[in-house]
Amino acid sequence: MDQRVVECVPNFSEGRDKAKIKQITDAIQAVPHVTLLDLDPGADTNRTVVTFVGDPDSVAEAAFQAIAKAAQVLDMSQHHGEHPRMGATDVCPFVPISGVTMEDCAAIARRVGERVGRELDIPVYLYEAAASRPERKNLATIRKGEYERLAEKLRDPEWKPDFGPARFHAKAGATVIGAREFLIAFNVTLNTRDKALATDIAFELRERGRVARAATGSNYYSKGKILTYQENAYPCGNCDFIARTFVETVTHCRDKHDYDLENLLRLNDVDPSRPLAGQKVYRAGKFTHCKAIGWYVDEYRRAQISINLTNCKATPPHLVLEEARRLAALRGLVVTGSEVVGLIPYPALLEAGSYYLKAQGKSAFVPIPDVLQTAVFSMGLADVSPFDLRRKVIGLPREFDKGLVTMTVKDFTDEVSRDTPAPGGGSVAALAGALGSALASMLAILREGKTESATAAAGLLQAAEIAQRVKDQLVLAVDEDTNAFNAYMEARRLPANTEQEKTVRERQMQDGLKAAVRVPHQTARASFEGMQAAWTVVQHGNVSSITDGAVGAQVAYAGVRGGVWNVLINLKDITDAAFVHEMRDKCDGLLRDAHALLTQVVAHVDKRLAELIDKE
Ligand SMILES: [Zn+2]
Repeated sequence: MDQRVVECVPNFSEGRDKAKIKQITDAIQAVPHVTLLDLDPGADTNRTVVTFVGDPDSVAEAAFQAIAKAAQVLDMSQHHGEHPRMGATDVCPFVPISGVTMEDCAAIARRVGERVGRELDIPVYLYEAAASRPERKNLATIRKGEYERLAEKLRDPEWKPDFGPARFHAKAGATVIGAREFLIAFNVTLNTRDKALATDIAFELRERGRVARAATGSNYYSKGKILTYQENAYPCGNCDFIARTFVETVTHCRDKHDYDLENLLRLNDVDPSRPLAGQKVYRAGKFTHCKAIGWYVDEYRRAQISINLTNCKATPPHLVLEEARRLAALRGLVVTGSEVVGLIPYPALLEAGSYYLKAQGKSAFVPIPDVLQTAVFSMGLADVSPFDLRRKVIGLPREFDKGLVTMTVKDFTDEVSRDTPAPGGGSVAALAGALGSALASMLAILREGKTESATAAAGLLQAAEIAQRVKDQLVLAVDEDTNAFNAYMEARRLPANTEQEKTVRERQMQDGLKAAVRVPHQTARASFEGMQAAWTVVQHGNVSSITDGAVGAQVAYAGVRGGVWNVLINLKDITDAAFVHEMRDKCDGLLRDAHALLTQVVAHVDKRLAELIDKE
């Protein structure tokens, strides 16, 4: 099962002709495992922004198909619009959402770019994290001159495309492909209608900061006299420090406030290499990758700090919110909540939930829906508009919305008891492993804050993390085991009339069998991790809960044993001797370790119980 999620946000140079736009989105949706999330056509810009997600390979395929379709149905020589552009598919960024790195997305960008150049003869430039050289990082730089001057640009050796011919493609123009971070549009709502108060906080938060002023004693910053650099007097904008030279102030800002003053000046359109006497002093904001302004929203009848976060890994929204809350309190204001415009990546919301749980002294290794709910409540995300996790969060793990795992315990037990071959021992083994891990998780969370020993606390924390992870994995395996034979059954239905058909059918059946072996093997491995977590909690738990841990280890052992049996029964029809041998070895080792661990747990628990009974 692939839980890796990549987002793709191509911009097409057509925002008016719905039929043409539909042809492009149809090409995207024709690719399996791709979900179209959003379509944003602009008539004035004559441009459409499309958002879709999926696993890396599917997203790469859909992006290529969309670029090919756009090259076929759009004609740049006829295009007019207000937005800068140079191609039918103007720009196509890949964005890591979960389970993938920026480098993975840059690799996808290069792969798609190479294919677009080779198969479609369209010049391709790589940008941002996929850029081939520093001067091609910035999209605006690459696009300078736009479509109208592209032919000229392609003749310049400096602008030889990264892929495709250095030859003008009149119909499709050129395409800029790359990888970048996710953009979060995040608004913090205040208990005021005064936009100026929101702006005062926004300027403290944003990377480019604001013009520095002399202190007035007010918490609002807009009143004091504007500071300027003088010959022999270079004040720091963030404290009272004044140096005799600019160089000293640069060093001071780096050492004391952790920012690059020259970069700050450039962000405010001041060239630091020129004489600075008479020039305004700037005060850096708190966060990098953060743009912010104040505005008033009529619909909410409140002012907001409107924030754009261009890298939520470096600057997570919950930390910006907490700083806004602090700054608001200093100014006699209250943050009533926050708002995500568009989508927020799942890992960012998960991180926020963990942050607030830890701040409350609670374990962050609780069921994922609880962590996410904590984030929504703590950030006040439903303050001014509804916040539906399924609609607002991108890359949410597959919901348990269908299949065996949505049944009641009674219905599932009845289903197993019926005279149908599935669900059978494999699904039951996975459920046993999940329940054993759940018991280990319960005890780990209960004991985590109560132990005095640092080693025990670290062990319990790790056990809690492992138990939650393998529990979720094993719950999914309940259905996966029942579906594991699908590929094999499909292969069996293939025709076998000719020798060639027979060969294809046999190979696909063998592949299906191998897939069917991997699911129970994963079940056995995950269940063993659940057993290890149970052993940790049995050692550090108190006597009253020791039997819960013992039950956890015992049923998780059933998960290991059951998984291994299901591997072995399916190995008998696999002809690849090396695969069979390797799998047998893995199972033998797993079984040996699990059996030894179970013996250890049982002996430990029985000894503790005997001591307890003797005492009474
Ligand atoms: Zn300073």
